[in-house]
Amino acid sequence: KLHNQVQELKGNIRVFARVRPALAHEVDAPDGLADIAYGDERTAQETGQGQIIVSNKSESAMGGVREQVNSFAFDKIFSPKAGQKEVFEEISMLAQSVLDGYNVCIFAYGQTGSGKSWTMEGGQNEEDAGMIPRAIDMIFAASKGLKDRGWKYQMEGQFLEVYNEVINDLLGSGQFDTKKHEIKHDKDGKMTVTEVVSVPLSNPRQVSTLLDRARSRRAVAATLMNERSSRSHSVFTLKVRGVNPLTDEKCEAMLNLVDLAGSERLASSGAGENKDRLKETININRSLSALADVIGALGQGTQGGHVPYRNSTLTRLLQTSLSGSSKTLMLCNLSPLAAHLSETLCSLRFATKVN
Ligand code: ADP
Repeated sequence: KLHNQVQELKGNIRVFARVRPALAHEVDAPDGLADIAYGDERTAQETGQGQIIVSNKSESAMGGVREQVNSFAFDKIFSPKAGQKEVFEEISMLAQSVLDGYNVCIFAYGQTGSGKSWTMEGGQNEEDAGMIPRAIDMIFAASKGLKDRGWKYQMEGQFLEVYNEVINDLLGSGQFDTKKHEIKHDKDGKMTVTEVVSVPLSNPRQVSTLLDRARSRRAVAATLMNERSSRSHSVFTLKVRGVNPLTDEKCEAMLNLVDLAGSERLASSGAGENKDRLKETININRSLSALADVIGALGQGTQGGHVPYRNSTLTRLLQTSLSGSSKTLMLCNLSPLAAHLSETLCSLRFATKVN
């Protein structure tokens, strides 16, 4: 029995796109902005989808200009004008369905600098707050509202990082996480990660302390390991357990908010020169395609079908949250710059393949 209205989803997988604005120092970028257009609102209303139309002009061998136009369909598109509030409005029902016992995964995908962290964590001002703080605030508020109907919720937060296929605990004590974390499945199919810190949460303010802690830990790692945060996946998990003594109902679910590693290919990350970077890039590519394969298999319907969770640490970590009746959103972040156009096209192809 559902106690709040859950959006009727066509299937349980959604794919959104968000193009960030040009930043102050980019407005005069030498190559300017990419030619990106947004499908008209009527189409969006009729089909429930939006289009991103990218035009790519290049010089042809004959000396003329050749124009290639590609369009990509998404369930929802946010142009550079869309603020954090507007984006959150489209995902709030999805995030809230964790209180009804649905496992939810929200992924931010895109090249480094495309706005993934901005979308997920956001800035310091209230209006700039990203999806993690907004989702938490809303879930706490909604859970209070359900008190009248007898529901009592317990929440816990966990913040992990997957770097080179290894799990690190961003909330661990000490400067570095020296513990070894393993993914274990018990007899009932329940998954746990060994030795990770799970922080009980009773109000949204505790969550911002937790996010600050994770951020400073990532910053330490970044100065030592060169932009590590863009080379690793970060997974914030809110575990929710609800009981209702009035109706004797129970529910348990997880909301996962995942900031994926930068999707840029080898050449543009300058990875060619350095063995460690090459290894990172190979691991990132492998895990992103493993994720696409899993979401793709789930999109086909899972009855009897094989879902290849075991091909990466990230998909193993999220296995429970990506199976059964769970809900998944892939948010594809895009740069508006012409200099990034080829990566933008790669991201668009990746995201629409998942769709
Ligand atoms: P990523 O996490 O994909 O590497 P970031 O989130 O760090 O990218 O974004 C790159 C830069 O662009 C940051 O300075 C960020 O503050 C800014 N930015 C990204 N998206 C927006 C947006 N929608 N509005 C304003 N600034 C943005």
